[in-house]
Amino acid sequence: MSSSTNPTSAAYQKAVKKLGLKDNIARALEIPDRELTVEISFRRDNGELDSVIGYRVQHNNARGPFKGGIRYHHHVDIEEVRSLATLMSWKTSLLDIPYGGGKGGIAFDPSKYTATEIERISRRFFRAIDPIIGINIDIPAPDVNTNSQVMSWFMDEYSQTHGYTPGIVTGKPLELGGSEGREAATGRGTAICTREAAEKWGIELNNSKVVIQGFGNVGSFAAKFLHEYGCKIIGVSDVSGGLYNPDGLDISTLFDYNYKNKTIDGFEEGTKITNEQLLSLECDFLIPAALGSAINKSNADSINCKIVVEAANGPVTGDAADKLWSERKIPIIPDILTNAGGVTVSYFEWVQNLQQFKWTEDDVNKKLEQKMVDAFSEVFSLKKDKNISMRTSSFMVAIDRVNNAYTLRQG
Ligand code: NAD
Repeated sequence: MSSSTNPTSAAYQKAVKKLGLKDNIARALEIPDRELTVEISFRRDNGELDSVIGYRVQHNNARGPFKGGIRYHHHVDIEEVRSLATLMSWKTSLLDIPYGGGKGGIAFDPSKYTATEIERISRRFFRAIDPIIGINIDIPAPDVNTNSQVMSWFMDEYSQTHGYTPGIVTGKPLELGGSEGREAATGRGTAICTREAAEKWGIELNNSKVVIQGFGNVGSFAAKFLHEYGCKIIGVSDVSGGLYNPDGLDISTLFDYNYKNKTIDGFEEGTKITNEQLLSLECDFLIPAALGSAINKSNADSINCKIVVEAANGPVTGDAADKLWSERKIPIIPDILTNAGGVTVSYFEWVQNLQQFKWTEDDVNKKLEQKMVDAFSEVFSLKKDKNISMRTSSFMVAIDRVNNAYTLRQG
């Protein structure tokens, strides 16, 4: 990804300049602390030996243990993991939770392997990264193609040698120390950010028009909560295509349909549209909640919303963001703020594991609400004060906090 298309590196450069950080500090904060590449040998079900490559990148731990998910995907490589680990340092800092940033991944396509093979790969990987992780050192979590089952294997593998340690990973099932409210957390955080943006930009939330690309974990829960706030969700899509109803889709029924079928395909309501048509619908809030680079130079001019709320990681490329914000003054609520609800409740899960005390769902939701509102308000104040974008402001708040902790620790 070049710096013109990578919103994160462009935002980092802008923010460190505005913060007036010296080059040596800016460089030190950008370079990851540690990168580990591991070879994972395992047996296929037919007895043949096979091997895959895994990574764990620990970007920065000035403010607390490294924190970030582990993804299974054939596109995983060290550069992608490094960039996602860096993003985690800024995200945890922005929400002011006592973590640094890390990320991991294994370069393989899990759809080509059986569940028992994936279990063997997962356990081997966790053993391979054991020397650099720990409950106060580095706490992995789920990401693309990993889930609570994979977290259970990780936790079991670690506990075999270190004793019962649920806090070594987050995103676990409830039975093994997972947190109430985790499944809905990222969508809930997205809805809260949308609500706060409506208030700050003077848009009436009730009956406002919302379009959501991606109806997976994040998109479907965001739709559910925004619908509860009174918004009209006029368009949604997934990999199969989109649905449009100018009067608002029946989100409660669609949510249940999608939860059961894992797709919106076949839902008998609304007009079928393509993903490209969906992105250009006239609306108040456009929420890309599927893929990176969904809004890019080629479709930025057709975007027809008042505010973009980035629920996915990196859904608006750097050059598209320039077109939207610099040329058309369409605000973008950046990913490190919008989708931080997930890592925030992961943090709550870890705290509950350390305390060996379970919180109610209501406790979790109230604490999440407060964290999201505080972070949004801090970012918005700085944005107004300095007349900058929400993204630059978010990065400034996040980098400043990491820099302060980092500098104090250098003595
Ligand atoms: P998911 O796999 O549950 O859902 C992804 C959705 O996107 C699905 O509905 C899928 O059909 C749709 N999709 C895939 N390709 C598409 C395409 N070409 N066009 C339109 N839709 C397409 O994933 P998720 O957990 O909801 O994550 C969505 C995004 O949010 C990702 O970028 C992820 O990195 C980010 N994110 C997720 C979390 C979390 O807690 N789940 C936290 C932070 C960030």
